[in-house]
Amino acid sequence: MIDSHSHIYMDRYDEDRPAVIARAAEVGILNLLQVGCNLEESRQVIALAERVPGIYASVGVHPHDADTVTDEVLDALEVLTHHPKVLSWGEIGLDFYYDNSPREIQKAAFEAQMKRAARLDLPVVIHTRDAEPETRDITARHPIPRGGHVHCFTGSGELAADLLTMGYHIGFTGIITFRKSTDLREVVAAVPLERMLIETDSPYLAPVPHRGKRNEPAYVAEVAKAIAQIKDTPVEEVVRITTENFHRLYGCDRIEWETLAS
Ligand SMILES: [Zn+2]
Ligand SMILES: [Zn+2]
Repeated sequence: MIDSHSHIYMDRYDEDRPAVIARAAEVGILNLLQVGCNLEESRQVIALAERVPGIYASVGVHPHDADTVTDEVLDALEVLTHHPKVLSWGEIGLDFYYDNSPREIQKAAFEAQMKRAARLDLPVVIHTRDAEPETRDITARHPIPRGGHVHCFTGSGELAADLLTMGYHIGFTGIITFRKSTDLREVVAAVPLERMLIETDSPYLAPVPHRGKRNEPAYVAEVAKAIAQIKDTPVEEVVRITTENFHRLYGCDRIEWETLAS
């Protein structure tokens, strides 16, 4: 099992990070992808990946921090991508729900980072919320040969279908376990398992029955269970196929995968 997207480098885990990693290994998690949201965090994810076998890193600037994207920051991130444990560029994208950065700046930062990822031949990790036409437009205009992971998907079935056509994988979090997420469970039913990733987005969005608490990678098991139920498939199949998907998307046979060890 894989937690394809989380943030346990954050200081909310400073007190007990080794225990969090040990619990993830205990439930059978092989790898964690730690995702940076700005240049400073991108350095932190690499530092964590260097210390812990089985943890890998993604570097980029989140739409919330889009106003920090300059040529200098992009160059510094590009240097970081040459680290052997960096698998992808992200998270990048658009968040018109929180609007923490002006929309025009978010779009420019997203496009600039899509161009870098394409040039470096890296997959991307995309965050998108309440920005469907703009997400569709920018992903269509900047094809990424290696594809990517549209993480914590909460959009429409139409957007999911378009992203699948463009070659993306769709990631689901604990939101699919929330009682009100009826429409999202329909999207889960429609996305083929072969193009799906499971993730926690820890520390956010803890799944039922942990809802409201700090999330942690071990709880990705609840996401797998929910998908198994929606798809009426054994949970072992969900785990096996999403693990293969992660290794295919991010590995492309160029890395020897290490297993998580605390
Ligand atoms: Zn995100
Ligand atoms: Zn995230």
